[in-house]
Amino acid sequence: MIRIINLILAVTFIFIQQIFINTFLYAENTPKNIIFMIGDGMGNSHIKAAKLAKSGKDGKLFMQKLEVQGYIRTLSANGEITDSAAAATAMATGTKTNNEIIGKDPDYNNLKNILEYAEKYGKSTGIVTTVQLTHATPAAFATHVRNRYKMEEIAVQIINKNIEVLFGGGENYFLPENQNGCFAGEGKRDDGINLISKAVKNGYIYVCTKQELKNLDTGITNRVLGLFGAEEIKRPIKPNLTLLTKKAVEILSDDPDGFFLMVEAGQIDWASHENNAANMLNSMLQFDKAVKTAYQLSQTSETLLIVTSDHQTGKFKITPDRESLFADGPFYMPDGTKFFIQWNSDEHTADKVKIFASGVNAEMFNGTHENTFIFDVMYRSLKMKN
Ligand SMILES: [Zn+2]
Repeated sequence: MIRIINLILAVTFIFIQQIFINTFLYAENTPKNIIFMIGDGMGNSHIKAAKLAKSGKDGKLFMQKLEVQGYIRTLSANGEITDSAAAATAMATGTKTNNEIIGKDPDYNNLKNILEYAEKYGKSTGIVTTVQLTHATPAAFATHVRNRYKMEEIAVQIINKNIEVLFGGGENYFLPENQNGCFAGEGKRDDGINLISKAVKNGYIYVCTKQELKNLDTGITNRVLGLFGAEEIKRPIKPNLTLLTKKAVEILSDDPDGFFLMVEAGQIDWASHENNAANMLNSMLQFDKAVKTAYQLSQTSETLLIVTSDHQTGKFKITPDRESLFADGPFYMPDGTKFFIQWNSDEHTADKVKIFASGVNAEMFNGTHENTFIFDVMYRSLKMKN
């Protein structure tokens, strides 16, 4: 009898505790919108180098001015240095997986991602990238495939999702072989399906130039597919990440229920694999401008803004003088001080990456966390409302 009373008391206590948590603790901490920005390959030294180029030794990037800063561990499920697929899956779904897998656990079970939860809670959703929309990072926020290189399959899943805003490159994966689109070269689909036509039939506006994007009336645009390259958006990147982010936020902001938006600067990673410091710095500074735009367009009282990286790509030293023939530079700080970038590696590393956050629930990112924790915070933020 005492055991039963204890059990009833315990259950009642848990029940009351849950009501308390849901009513008092979570009720005030409900971001209407979540903007999640990923600098692919952006390590701590990338941030330092971009800071020097933008504002010198004592300056800061805009992302460094956000009120909360912490660190993220990036290793994949089997403890390997992560690739973009496993890292993006961890951040999008809250579960670590093996390299090359998108939106599935190591046993290939589908994992529901944050964009799918946002849709479930009635929010509008968007994905923006400077590489192919079918590339690993954007794919993990929309699709479930065993291998990241199945880009034709990823394209099908992306189009069938009814995501409100899709901006990136990768036209080739949306067009059949023998068919041309806005860019040179033929499509890569061997199933004969034109996914761009299919999207338009399903109510998407299709744009493929900077001017068309600029002309979009964001007030009346509900769903838009923008593909701005056959593969990645070629340098000099047009439309740039700032314009892409601005248009995406403007369109998604029309939803009174709020939105989830993922923005990826995908070519920080590419430039770092190539050990091309000029392109790396250019992409870093573009990303920082896009962060500023997202911050300015979204009210912090309503929005959780998260800025991080999936892993560091490449290792380098920043030196005042040229230390070897292979040093990139010189680059200049605003006061004219020279610096060089001395690459030591062109591979992904196991280093922790920085996370910056602002707005509702940003303080949760203080300290050091696993990459899956980012999903946990975003998911809790979504659920708090309900
Ligand atoms: Zn990556």
